[in-house]
Amino acid sequence: VNLRRGYQKKEKEYTQAWSVSNEPLCKLCQKPCKGNNAKEPEYFEDLFCDLACYEDYRTRASSRFIRQELFQIEHGICTNCKLDCHQLATRLRPLPLERRREYVNKVAPELFARKNLLETLVNDPTEGNAWHADHIIPVFRGGGECRLENMRTLCVACHADVTAAQCVERRLIRSKARKQLKDTLNELRNNPNQTNLLADNRKETDCSEEEEEEDELLVEVPGSSYSIDQKISPAS
Ligand SMILES: [Zn+2]
Ligand SMILES: [Zn+2]
Repeated sequence: VNLRRGYQKKEKEYTQAWSVSNEPLCKLCQKPCKGNNAKEPEYFEDLFCDLACYEDYRTRASSRFIRQELFQIEHGICTNCKLDCHQLATRLRPLPLERRREYVNKVAPELFARKNLLETLVNDPTEGNAWHADHIIPVFRGGGECRLENMRTLCVACHADVTAAQCVERRLIRSKARKQLKDTLNELRNNPNQTNLLADNRKETDCSEEEEEEDELLVEVPGSSYSIDQKISPAS
């Protein structure tokens, strides 16, 4: 199909699968596209069954791109422990399974110690199972943009360490926020002038309802780059 992408004037060619019953299929999930423009797509978005698939596709495409760019600069060498992950994956591929474990034990004991990462890598020695593109400033501290300056190569073991450390930090931030919210609510309740700001029914609110409200405010955002990328080409 020939179509325009976004506001570009030039037409570009894209491939899209069609079913035997002559229905266009989503470029990501391969389900039939039911949109108004599906049969005569005008924009790139029209090649997807819905906007969620389109966004997902774009995120994956850009994380692939980031990995490629990063590889050009850092060549798959972990910026933390200096493990050459590209070489590791390349050397593992021709080896039989048992020899792969031995090899990892020899050149990357830290990785060998993490059994789940080890098994993933030895069963499928791809670059993506050896190193990840990591956000230097993490997403939750505002480093969501996948700009190359904010990315670094980390071996899967170092990446797991960094992610674990960030989890602790995030939990700390959350519990601080929770405490602050509690204090604010208590203050409002204890101050008669300001209590009016809260609706009358707030006075009867019991603890369980209060908990619920807090959880709502502090709910985790599901679309963090960790959750998306882990599936296809890890880049977070
Ligand atoms: Zn889809
Ligand atoms: Zn490392």
